Amino acid sequence: MPPDREAAIGALRRQGRGAGLDLSRRTVTLSDGADLEWDQLIIATGVRPRRLAGGEAKGVHHLRSDRDALALAADIRRHGRLVIVGGGFIGLEVAATARKLGAGVTVLEPQADPMIGRLGPEVAAKLLARHRAEGVDLRLGCAVRALETRADGRTLESVQLAEGGAIETPALLVAIGCTPNVEWLQGSGLALDNGVVCDAFCRAAEGVWAAGDVARWQHLGLGRSLRIEHRTNAAEQAEAVARNVLGAGVAYTPVPFFWTDQYDVKIQLAGVCPPEAERRIEFGDLDGRSFVQTWRVEGRLVGVIAWNAAKALTGFRRELTFDRPVAAAGGSQR
Ligand SMILES: Cc1cc2nc3c(=O)[nH]c(=O)nc-3n(C[C@H](O)[C@H](O)[C@H](O)COP(=O)(O)OP(=O)(O)OC[C@H]3O[C@@H](n4cnc5c(N)ncnc54)[C@H](O)[C@@H]3O)c2cc1C
Repeated sequence: MPPDREAAIGALRRQGRGAGLDLSRRTVTLSDGADLEWDQLIIATGVRPRRLAGGEAKGVHHLRSDRDALALAADIRRHGRLVIVGGGFIGLEVAATARKLGAGVTVLEPQADPMIGRLGPEVAAKLLARHRAEGVDLRLGCAVRALETRADGRTLESVQLAEGGAIETPALLVAIGCTPNVEWLQGSGLALDNGVVCDAFCRAAEGVWAAGDVARWQHLGLGRSLRIEHRTNAAEQAEAVARNVLGAGVAYTPVPFFWTDQYDVKIQLAGVCPPEAERRIEFGDLDGRSFVQTWRVEGRLVGVIAWNAAKALTGFRRELTFDRPVAAAGGSQR
């Protein structure tokens, strides 16, 4: 972090992990046993990758930090092949990058249609077809039973498949989603349910707030609680929480937004994609290089997906707002 930002923050404790929270004393206990008093507390401890049993073996990777990325890249270059467990956004982004590096890539995904809930049937099918056209061995409906190590007990040898059989591989990425970092809050009295549970203002208790990947808050526009693992939300929610700490009292009702870059394709999604919405191609051609697809519920725009169409997305994005409730807006986040 640049020194001027560090100075603005005040006391940045680089090794200071929160280990416990006492709401009545208004203190956070650090991992070194010290207590920190607070007037207002913002919880922004993010998430960490889920792991498989045997995930400590040499050759098994998880992706969260720059160090993780460098270690994975080194193994992809060294071995020239990679097996990825999980066909979500991170798994597919890495698949595309590894193919660009010339590696042979196999993706194992237990669901038959992993992207439909996130991108809808047409865009999901197009994305998966692109991976296959690029030479990814994409195995849908294929679950992993176990990871096997070599005789040394420390080095990955193969992935055992639930359906029988195994794939030998020296390098494996586990990309099966994330777990919110909330263990240190257990017993504090805060509601924890796949994240820190907050009200519409991102408040978890009097003077306690949460923001970013770890926060589950009540989105009044969508009429449900939501936890979003996207950078735009982390930034927007941090601003909303800062305003509310200062007394703004404004409910947080963002339009969810994310992007993913795979091969030469940039997919951007604003809003939500509930299955009951009416889908329409508004720009370009679904079979072509770029297009925009909109999602409408009772005529109201609730979601828009752009495939290599960042400019065309802008106008639709302006039209999207969840300040007033949407009738039935499901759809899932990353
Ligand atoms: C590989 C990868 C690719 C991604 N790509 C995209 C993308 O293309 N587009 C997009 O929108 N988003 C993407 N994301 C998601 C995006 O990075 C996250 O949404 C964003 O980083 C969330 O910010 P955050 O501050 O909530 O959490 P984080 O960035 O995870 O920060 C949480 C911090 O809290 C610290 N912490 C944890 N526990 C404690 C504790 N007990 N005490 C003190 N500190 C603690 C952690 O060490 C960490 O520094 C990607 C994420 C990954 C992993």
